Amino acid sequence: MSDAPHGTVARHSAGCRCDPCRDAVSRYVADRYRVAPRAGTPMSAEERERVAATRAAQVAATRAEATSARRPWTADDLTVALDYSRSAVEAARMLGRSQSAVAHARQRYGPGRPEVLPYRERPARRRRA
Ligand SMILES: [Zn+2]
Repeated sequence: MSDAPHGTVARHSAGCRCDPCRDAVSRYVADRYRVAPRAGTPMSAEERERVAATRAAQVAATRAEATSARRPWTADDLTVALDYSRSAVEAARMLGRSQSAVAHARQRYGPGRPEVLPYRERPARRRRA
């Protein structure tokens, strides 16, 4: 969904978790919070609360709308769930599953865990740039 190049916060926000994108976020967070308070723009308590509330609402919505909850993961499901160009919320909506189900699938079957993937057809692993 995002056309932002890898190694940017925008691409990470779109769901990419490749090393360059993770590094970009690390640098962003470090820059944002290392600077002196008067020069920087740390999020206010209200901002943090709003961000957290939006996130919680999205997560809750995917749980409320999930139609495929508790169905076994198929190879097709996992191809969608493990496409890191999507956020877990986006993948959850496509699959009729909850955000937490997708997050769990990413932990269980994602990069670095191919040995537990019970299917012959594995999603193509992304090359790290
Ligand atoms: Zn990336």
